[in-house]
Amino acid sequence: MDDALILRKKLNSSVGIELKNIGEVAITEEGYFLYKGQRVLLYIRDHYYNPNYPEREYKYHICNCDTIQETIKNDRFNRYVVSTRTDGLFKINVRHFLTRKIIKDNKVTQLHVCKNCLLKLQYHGYSNHRTAHSIYDGFDLATFFLV
Ligand SMILES: [Zn+2]
Repeated sequence: MDDALILRKKLNSSVGIELKNIGEVAITEEGYFLYKGQRVLLYIRDHYYNPNYPEREYKYHICNCDTIQETIKNDRFNRYVVSTRTDGLFKINVRHFLTRKIIKDNKVTQLHVCKNCLLKLQYHGYSNHRTAHSIYDGFDLATFFLV
């Protein structure tokens, strides 16, 4: 198998590719993430969970939105994963927010698109978190990666 094919397979798997350094992704003028020339989405491997609150859903990011910029600025130690998978199923670890102990590891989880990414890209006219539910609900990764 050649390297390009291996890369595509890894990016398409639910595990994705864990970055050693966030600088491994380039950001296009529009704000998209590029990994070795491929457009990718970005998510965080470890999801911290506080049992006193309902589980907060982590999102995947399709562009360099305000949320991910803040996250990267505040915590450079997150393990960032890049992926081109289109079914929204990604491998994550759930950790206790204080002890950092793993509660569930390698859990394949359905993640959803970050609304701030939709806003930044004005995806299909997305301009407001309160009124644009249908654009969020109808968001399709396969379509996103085609354009
Ligand atoms: Zn985002």
